[in-house]
Amino acid sequence: MKFGGTSVADIERIRNVGRHVKREVDAGHDVAVVVSAMAGKTNELVAWCREASPLHDAREYDAVVASGEQVTAGLLAVVLQNMGLNARSWLGWQLPILTSHAHGAARILDINGEEIVKRFGERKEVAVIAGFQGIHKETGRITTLGRGGSDTSAVAVAATIRADRCDIYTDVDGVYTTDPRVVPKARRLDKVAFEEMLELASLGAKVLQVRSVELGMVHKVKIFVRSSFEKPEDIDPHGTPPGTLICDEEDIVEQQVVTGIAFSKDEAQISIRRVQDKPGVAAAIFGPLAEANINVDMIVQNVSADGKTTDLTFTVPAGDYQRSMDVIGKAKETIGFERLDGAADVAKVSVIGIGMRSHAGVAAQAFKALADRNINIRAITTSEIKFSVLIDAAYTELAVRTLHGLYGLDKA
Ligand code: ASP
Ligand code: MG
Repeated sequence: MKFGGTSVADIERIRNVGRHVKREVDAGHDVAVVVSAMAGKTNELVAWCREASPLHDAREYDAVVASGEQVTAGLLAVVLQNMGLNARSWLGWQLPILTSHAHGAARILDINGEEIVKRFGERKEVAVIAGFQGIHKETGRITTLGRGGSDTSAVAVAATIRADRCDIYTDVDGVYTTDPRVVPKARRLDKVAFEEMLELASLGAKVLQVRSVELGMVHKVKIFVRSSFEKPEDIDPHGTPPGTLICDEEDIVEQQVVTGIAFSKDEAQISIRRVQDKPGVAAAIFGPLAEANINVDMIVQNVSADGKTTDLTFTVPAGDYQRSMDVIGKAKETIGFERLDGAADVAKVSVIGIGMRSHAGVAAQAFKALADRNINIRAITTSEIKFSVLIDAAYTELAVRTLHGLYGLDKA
């Protein structure tokens, strides 16, 4: 069971979490619980680091920001004990959860779940595990897994102890066809395939950390996204509560062509005009960007008409826009181009569905529908199970609503 920040935002809510845990224990289950920091806590800790020094040591950043989860893990253990359950908290280093050295964005390498499994058997002890944190294998220093990382902690723990399921309790009752705040007619999905969820999460849906879905897919951990705000005692621990199961494609009987629409407004577009059309140019452009740690997303290059020059467009996170323009500007000599254009007010809208593999014309319908609404498409990319369009940010909501209706995702 994993509980996010809003579910543990104060002592009253931690008690509510305790009641969810007790229900499952009373039903005969062995339970490991992973908790996030109280809502807003991690942001506060991050801000303190920045205030202390804009250029702080990443190892000390981790020492600071990992503390939020230490508090909630201890408090939940106290609450559970107070309810008459055996419970013990575990920090990343205590299990241990071994990670890579990438402070602030570490990857889990190995978890030792033996002790908690032993305690399930010996004394029915609930393990309360601090999410988001681990310990670097070689240096023994505390690491954190990147924002939203407790989801990944939870799936990794579930894989290690071979849990039947990893329940992610959150402030929404599942994964929706799109953001219900933008499209009130958005529907909750009963099941989503790992691959689709991976796309949804990386293309803008914020329910789960991308890495947690990746881990779930590799280790075949069934992930169930459900609400923590339902009354704990109203839920039948043996029934099927409302929520979304993220599972193997084969476990989904009624597969739709399109499963969901994701969008992200944090995009910026950069176009390099009249770039030399010769070997090594793409490397000259994207090499320096990679070195500057800038994540390039859509890349569109035209075939040149005269064999000499061409145009190349790509997108970067809006926060990296200025830096990217500078990096390319500096490399003008080596790249060789005429003009650099950019726009920071763009959005990426993506349509996702495994059914696209076997259906033709799915994207063509979207282009027509967007054209009918006079929405101009700046760039398009496609893959097996999704396509994305880059548009002016001002049209994001209209585009998402249009596509949601077009593919029959609106609820009746
Ligand atoms: N507390 C951490 C964060 O806000 C980890 C998490 O909540 O998943 O990023
Ligand atoms: Mg989260």
